[in-house]
Amino acid sequence: MTLVHRLRPFTQTIFAEMSALATSTGAINLGQGFPDSDGPPEMLAAARDAISGGFNQYPPGPGLPELRTAIAEARLRNYGQFFDPGNQVLVTTGATEAIAAAVIALCEAGDEVLMLEPFYDSYPAVVAMAGGIARAVPLRPDENGRAGLDLDEFAAAIGPRTRLLILNSPHNPTGAVLTGAELAGIARLCQEHDLIVISDEVYEYLTFDGTTHVPIGTLPGMAERTISISSAGKSFSATGWKIGWACGPAELIAAVRAAKQFLTYVSGGPFQPAVALALRTQEPWARELALELAGKRDRLSAGLRAAGLEVWHPQGTYFVMTDIRPLGETDGLAFCTQLPHRAGVVAIPAQVFYRTPGDWSHLVRFAFCKADAVIDEACERLAAMSR
Ligand code: PMP
Ligand code: GLN
Repeated sequence: MTLVHRLRPFTQTIFAEMSALATSTGAINLGQGFPDSDGPPEMLAAARDAISGGFNQYPPGPGLPELRTAIAEARLRNYGQFFDPGNQVLVTTGATEAIAAAVIALCEAGDEVLMLEPFYDSYPAVVAMAGGIARAVPLRPDENGRAGLDLDEFAAAIGPRTRLLILNSPHNPTGAVLTGAELAGIARLCQEHDLIVISDEVYEYLTFDGTTHVPIGTLPGMAERTISISSAGKSFSATGWKIGWACGPAELIAAVRAAKQFLTYVSGGPFQPAVALALRTQEPWARELALELAGKRDRLSAGLRAAGLEVWHPQGTYFVMTDIRPLGETDGLAFCTQLPHRAGVVAIPAQVFYRTPGDWSHLVRFAFCKADAVIDEACERLAAMSR
């Protein structure tokens, strides 16, 4: 094994593995979270225009000024957060790079980085790259299937070496949107323990049933210690464009920029003006997408229930978490490996998003960001399997 020790647990992402399985078996892919339809036509046209208009060389290091301004305007309009596009907004290669650069820039070797679990899989990987130690606090479902945080458990997970919190709300993979009380409790503890928050908000627009996303950076005392991260991938159904951003106090953004400039320097030149246009003019499109996704959540949830699974209740994102034990199954990894062959459907074993997989091996994540007919066909296949 030539791979360095600290990266050995991270040889392949589950998303690549499961999408490859979907391709090789021809199964319906409800695994990796990407929509099967395109973003707003005006945004797509703007990217084409940028390419044919000769906008194909390196954009400025911190990002196109027009995009940084559009990001700052959207933050102000939606959340009342003020960021100076000059030194408090940084364009990155997707949210993934913003998170990686923030961790690399702010985590000393041996520092502990706290996260909610299940966690997005890149978090512990980048903590390992930085030489940090990942710690996690579980979200647990209540009787209505809403995943929530126990603040005492959260407080107990903070130790003397804890320096950073990677927070994610709306939360992948549970679909939880943190409540005001949860956010206030987290904010209080971050201030008490002087933690910096890396707030992953890529599903900021994709909330359901009147639930709204509140960035933790808007809570009293939090602006100075929070890096708010988002991206165009989920908001505008352009996951392949990899345009993301980080906003925060100038000092923290300068730190993130220091790491980011030597990771990719820049990327996505012609996509940047297109995303600027989307943020300025296509927010209603993103709100409409959220309404559609709420219907798809209901559609998939009903179908999964009919197929015999126990289903959690997401308030946002692309994903629904299920419990496979009612099917007589206990190992999600084995179940998901077999599922394409047994039912022609791909899903994600959620245990890979936990530090103690054995305790959570009964959980499987399904994505509903797909055409209704695709969801229906997948549900029909799953029901036929369990009949
Ligand atoms: N964070 C979360 C919670 C995600 O689900 C994803 C996947 N979109 C990302 C970060 C990565 O975002 P991007 O594709 O913009 O890098
Ligand atoms: N965010 C997507 C998901 O959770 C996948 C992104 C990726 O493949 N890295 O499914």
